[in-house]
Amino acid sequence: QPSVAIIGAGQAGLQVAVSLREQHYEGRIALIGDEPHVPYARPPLSKAYLLGEAGDLALRPQTYFAQHRIDLIAGKRAVAIDRTRRMVGLDDESVIEYDHLVLATGARNRSLPIPGVELGNVFLLRTLDEAALLRERMAAAKNVVVIGAGFIGLEFAATATKLGANVTVLDVADRPMARALSKTMSAVFTREHEKTGVRLMFNTQAMRLLGEQCVTAVETVDGKILPADLVLIGIGVIPNVEVAATCNLTVENGIVVDEFLQTSDPHISSIGDVAAFSNRHLGGGRVRLESVQNASDQARCVAARIMGQPDAYDAVPWFWSTQGSLKLQMAGLPSSGCEEVVRGDPNASKCSVFLFRDGKLACVETHNRPADHMLARRLLAERAALTPDQAADPTFDLKSLLP
Ligand code: FAD
Repeated sequence: QPSVAIIGAGQAGLQVAVSLREQHYEGRIALIGDEPHVPYARPPLSKAYLLGEAGDLALRPQTYFAQHRIDLIAGKRAVAIDRTRRMVGLDDESVIEYDHLVLATGARNRSLPIPGVELGNVFLLRTLDEAALLRERMAAAKNVVVIGAGFIGLEFAATATKLGANVTVLDVADRPMARALSKTMSAVFTREHEKTGVRLMFNTQAMRLLGEQCVTAVETVDGKILPADLVLIGIGVIPNVEVAATCNLTVENGIVVDEFLQTSDPHISSIGDVAAFSNRHLGGGRVRLESVQNASDQARCVAARIMGQPDAYDAVPWFWSTQGSLKLQMAGLPSSGCEEVVRGDPNASKCSVFLFRDGKLACVETHNRPADHMLARRLLAERAALTPDQAADPTFDLKSLLP
């Protein structure tokens, strides 16, 4: 009987199994995950879950797996791949055979190499178990310091503010979400977070965390002591490539795949946060994308190939980040040197920024303008010939460029 093994039971890994069954794949499916849970949604972990407002995070109920003959092996880690015999070895010494293997191992948080990170109430946020402990400790937290003004840091900062804490966010960069966002949109989010009472400190770094057992303060490189009874570190992730590296697949800031999401071994694909790929929307280079859209769409692409319908992965990347009442949506991918064109009033409660690379639309960031976001996805997919002048003109009908 044919069989597919999937390492990593997160957003991407689960979707491969679901899509295969939807397309009537008859073989065996093993879904191997090292977390002791059914696959769950991570986005609420920094938002509704901490507020106690998230429902069930499971992406499918426990019963789904038996009903669809998906062998969910939860709480076990894949430690070796034998590419010649097409077998995966698990940490309990059991072995899973495959005809096709999908590596969907995701990423883990980067740790901060400074003294004091081992103190109590210092958190990273990636897993449900981390979020559960964080939620418990948030109840008593008065002063919260967030290290890293990226998406997760700012989502958490907004949540902690809502829960009544005094929140300070610090970052080595000179603006929030600096690696991903235009200067105009960074300025919008700086202003809006400050309005809700979040204190933002840029061009600075945490030098050490102070405290005996639990953290009591953060000392910055410029000598400031910020009182803190809880610290969240959100300084980015590193891809979980170890199991791929043990069997000599090409690894370079992620597991390298071609336009079909196939690794250097035709029997092995890789998808989601761990996969390094390129396509026409990404401006030439190879990237890893960390988003639900990318994980899900790549999974569908690989499932279709396993079912005999190979297609290059060509989806327009899109992403959202909810930071309190602020809604950021992005379509496409920015790169440095893009021309920024603002649509709407950046001083108002909603606006969009259109980014052009070599005169062509590359990315659209929207704040509270969901209609622009939906249109942007279509404009990018159709490679519509929007000019910067048209984008800047609020009377220009963007729809007129669509077929
Ligand atoms: P993961 O979901 O990380 O799944 C990988 C799984 O594989 C993990 O369970 C891991 O433990 C397991 N694993 C790794 N190695 C092994 C091994 N050797 N053996 C067995 N199992 C292994 N995205 C958005 O688009 N919008 C958002 O608002 C948003 N918010 C987020 C908020 C938080 C707090 C976090 C953490 C992420 C957020 N994301 C958001 C990102 C999104 O959740 C990820 O892009 C998505 O989960 C990636 O899916 P994945 O399957 O590639 O990886």
